[in-house]
Amino acid sequence: MSFSDLGLSDALLRAVADSGYDTPTPIQRQAIPSVLMGKDIIAIAQTGTGKTASFVLPMIDILAEGRSRALMPRSLILEPTRELAQQVAENFDKYGKYHKLSMALLIGGVSMGDQLSALEKGVDVLIATPGRLMDLFARGKILLSGCAMLVIDEADRMLDMGFIPDIETICSKLPKSRQTLLFSATMPPPIKKLADQFMESPKSIEVARAASTNTNITQWVVETTSRDKKDLVRSILRQDDVKTAIIFCNKKTMVRDLADVLKRARLPVGQIHGDMEQSDRIRELDRFKQGDITILVASDVAARGLDVPGVSHVINFDMPWHPDDYVHRIGRTGRAGRTGIAISFATPEDAENLANIEKLTRQKIARWTGDAAVAAAPVATPAADAAPTEERGERGGDRRRSRTSRRE
Ligand code: AMP
Repeated sequence: MSFSDLGLSDALLRAVADSGYDTPTPIQRQAIPSVLMGKDIIAIAQTGTGKTASFVLPMIDILAEGRSRALMPRSLILEPTRELAQQVAENFDKYGKYHKLSMALLIGGVSMGDQLSALEKGVDVLIATPGRLMDLFARGKILLSGCAMLVIDEADRMLDMGFIPDIETICSKLPKSRQTLLFSATMPPPIKKLADQFMESPKSIEVARAASTNTNITQWVVETTSRDKKDLVRSILRQDDVKTAIIFCNKKTMVRDLADVLKRARLPVGQIHGDMEQSDRIRELDRFKQGDITILVASDVAARGLDVPGVSHVINFDMPWHPDDYVHRIGRTGRAGRTGIAISFATPEDAENLANIEKLTRQKIARWTGDAAVAAAPVATPAADAAPTEERGERGGDRRRSRTSRRE
């Protein structure tokens, strides 16, 4: 199947072709025709599957009809973080280049004045984080009654960040006769409830989870101690095949500390964490995208959904506390058909976290028993029982159970 089979306009097909994409991904194949038909959609998919284009593309064609009015955005996309909101905006620029749609980005850390003047002119697409949107709404600066299309992206992350009450309020301000698209990597009960409450006979779509089925990612666990981690990461980063790496830490203080250590080791490193000014985060991300630095030390929230093509390695300097974060972190590599390597450091204290990750992904991650630095360029094949195993595409009760157990 090609993009031209999905019912998109010629102008949009041209923009897609300009982007270099010729084959729609599974989520795009399943979502785009239904969105164009005006259906509500619940999509269980995570970043790396091409999900952004699966809503941005049909939205552009839908919004091409009709005109915007002052203070009344015609569509609203909710994103959990500024970075994700920005990436969606970049997607609109990329795919909407042959359309004349107006867009506003409503995110914290950016001057309110520019955002307000865009809104006052009237926008076709408003991309917002819930906090900033609620703020403006409370001040009467925005009307949501003309918003006929709503996208709730990364709903499970919104839940983790405590945004669900805000989203419920926002949903109740939108017209009842609207189209709603909800994207989430998992479907925990509060998200299910949100969907039941605010969606109209939604079509469910599920695409394979990266952690369980993305065989492009070779995963290793390196057993170590807290004391040895910094030496270990330095030696891994010096391997030739480490072209670009994102290193995840669980705490902002560790992000800073590790970035300093690596800088002192003269490695081309940058950092991104939630305490940084928005402009600094953007600058750091741009340096990474442009190749000025090839190593980025990151915290989960700041790195969520980073669209950095071709990251060769993900290193979990700290084992993530939440198993879903593991899935999201390693999804930064092995994207769009490329191969990638994910290396996770496990100290004895991480035993339970690691067990929860393996439970969620239903696979045993191979333990690296040789020289850890060599894990960066694995030459040996892990034992058969340790290799990533089954394919899972079905909506499974197990996954929900795992997710629930995590919250207990
Ligand atoms: P997403 O899941 O939206 O974060 O997208 C993951 C990556 O896949 C992004 O870098 C997209 O630009 C890229 N992408 C989206 N659609 C396609 C496609 N049809 N073919 C190849 N790459 C794609």
